[in-house]
Amino acid sequence: MSPSNGVPFLDLVSPHRELEDELAGAVMSILRSAAFVGGSAVERFEEEYAAFCGVPHCVGVGSGTDALRFALTATGVGDGDVVVTVPNTFAATVEAIIQVGATPRFVDADPETFNMSSVALAQYLTEECDRTVNGLIDRRTQRPVRSIVPVHLYGQMCDMNAIMALAEEYGLRVVEDACQAHGSAYMSREGFWKRAGAVSAAAAFSFYPGKNLGACGEAGAVTTSDEKVAARARMLRDHGQSRKYHHQIVGYNGRLDGIQAAVLRVKLAHLERWNTARREAARRYDAWFTETDHVRVIAEPAWSRGVYHLYVVCVPYRNQLQDSLSDSGIGTGLHYPVPLHLQEAYAHLGYREGDFPVAEDQARKLLSLPMYPQLRAEQQERVAQAILDFFSKQSVRESAFFEMRTRP
Ligand SMILES: *Cc1c(COP(=O)(O)O)cnc(C)c1O
Repeated sequence: MSPSNGVPFLDLVSPHRELEDELAGAVMSILRSAAFVGGSAVERFEEEYAAFCGVPHCVGVGSGTDALRFALTATGVGDGDVVVTVPNTFAATVEAIIQVGATPRFVDADPETFNMSSVALAQYLTEECDRTVNGLIDRRTQRPVRSIVPVHLYGQMCDMNAIMALAEEYGLRVVEDACQAHGSAYMSREGFWKRAGAVSAAAAFSFYPGKNLGACGEAGAVTTSDEKVAARARMLRDHGQSRKYHHQIVGYNGRLDGIQAAVLRVKLAHLERWNTARREAARRYDAWFTETDHVRVIAEPAWSRGVYHLYVVCVPYRNQLQDSLSDSGIGTGLHYPVPLHLQEAYAHLGYREGDFPVAEDQARKLLSLPMYPQLRAEQQERVAQAILDFFSKQSVRESAFFEMRTRP
């Protein structure tokens, strides 16, 4: 098949071409004011992104990983604490936990949504921890459990009603990893839609170029309803100072660039429309895959409104299918092929294969299909048709193999 007939996994060129004049104007205004680090574009963006999430405070930082580190430290996580998260996430979630001095402990994913299982979380809190006068103690490490980091994977929100209820019951704080969830919402116990970043003590967003809201380089943000957490995050991003050369805490160089903030302001105005286009594209894929038993799509519960940062399916013969799609010029991705508890870098945490069966099974079967606002229905048809063709040939091969083996 000719490359012109192919479908790329990502398209980071079209959205920038669409907004070229506006983006160039925004960058030019920063060049003219020389507000390269901090400044009014950063402040405006922080106000606008806070409003988008429905939360009073947003602190612009250097990356999503910075945002995770600052959100954890600013909410009181530190040396010797335990933080509960999932093994099926991007490495930055666990990096940040370790870099603030804490120990990550994992709970498995839910088999339908692939997000943190509230059942597994409840099981961990009751069966692997002891309730003491000093709070909840993780039995394996003998360390206090401080926080939960649910990851809104692929842009679908975790079951926050259940997770927040468990956090309340056990006196834990929650920090959302919302790096893939710009605009995702869930139906809260209070009976209204609440957006990612507005639920927990603090949330971390990434504006890495490929995210639903992406900068033209590295950028991130912490959102919070707590003024003290916001003030602490502001100090942490700026060498621990709240006044120039007066350092109250040990901080980082983790500020948001003026040019990135200016770019993000232009793109934020289109995020709602882009997220809607992603949802529509997801429904078109869903419709194609209801016809086959080979392709399992990730469940979106009625209480969830996801923004499809990724559209992920679970399939048998995953690697063969990925190769076959690649031969047809169709780009795909794996998010993520090796769960974090089985990574060399985290071997010291002492987990082994078999500890998280859902995450491990998912890692073998998942495949991310092309997904972006500019994806056209006919491109999706090509992707879906190529997948359905693969399985119709595969099942012919399987039945031939089956006949061969069962023939007397
Ligand atoms: C992208 C991402 C991060 C890290 O964000 P950066 O901006 O690349 O530092 C963290 N967690 C998850 C789940 C992500 O997808």
